[in-house]
Amino acid sequence: MATISIPACTSALLLDIEGTTTPITFVKDILFPYIREHLEEYLSTHWEEDECKQDVHLLKKQIEEDMRQHRSCPVHTVDQTVHTDEEKAIREVMDNVLWQMAADRKSTALKQLQGHMWRSAYSSGRIKGEVYQDVIPSLKRWREQGLKVYIYSSGSVEAQKLLFGYSEEGDVLDLLDGHFDTSIGAKVERKSYERIAERIGFQPEEITFLTDVTREAKAAEEAGVNVVVVVRSGNMELTDDERSHYSLVTSFSQLEVTGRV
Ligand SMILES: [Mg+2]
Repeated sequence: MATISIPACTSALLLDIEGTTTPITFVKDILFPYIREHLEEYLSTHWEEDECKQDVHLLKKQIEEDMRQHRSCPVHTVDQTVHTDEEKAIREVMDNVLWQMAADRKSTALKQLQGHMWRSAYSSGRIKGEVYQDVIPSLKRWREQGLKVYIYSSGSVEAQKLLFGYSEEGDVLDLLDGHFDTSIGAKVERKSYERIAERIGFQPEEITFLTDVTREAKAAEEAGVNVVVVVRSGNMELTDDERSHYSLVTSFSQLEVTGRV
């Protein structure tokens, strides 16, 4: 694929993570399975610690809320191997977490516990954040050209910082100027991109957003943000219309900022 020029007025790049800086499989095949496989061990080890107690408290509040709203909840059938109250309580929390994950719930309670488990996995070296080979050299090049670089991902800011703080290339957080997650708004809504522009102090047209998802690209475009769609193996296929409408790159190294050194 040929080089794509981003407008000379570009001052900031806004990057999606999944399918853009990082393979979608990293989240699907590494991060989420890690939670399922280490949940019991994590809860048993940290059960008495304040942070874990707060996580469990938040999950219980979520369960109560779900029951009030008549959302389906798992039925606890506690098996014979469970003896103590603590074991029983851990099983109940596990049931709920696994159920929420299977239902692809995005509750704050779930995200908070996952965030703490991932932090422990990253900081102990059990997980390293995956980034495509072209990402770090491009971030360095853009910053040398005086561009700012921000992340906008549906993963929490905390999870984003773990990925880049414990990446395969080491701690690369100092290559990033800031992080946004869905607390600023959904990625498919125009307003979110307007808010980000306001927050970072640039006009929408001074920002170039890189994503693999065309619904996000469309929303950014509606806000007046320049958009480049990233095509990586394993990403969702684009339609012919989408291919002809958007600027496409398969690697960040194809992006050229015109009029900059
Ligand atoms: Mg994505």
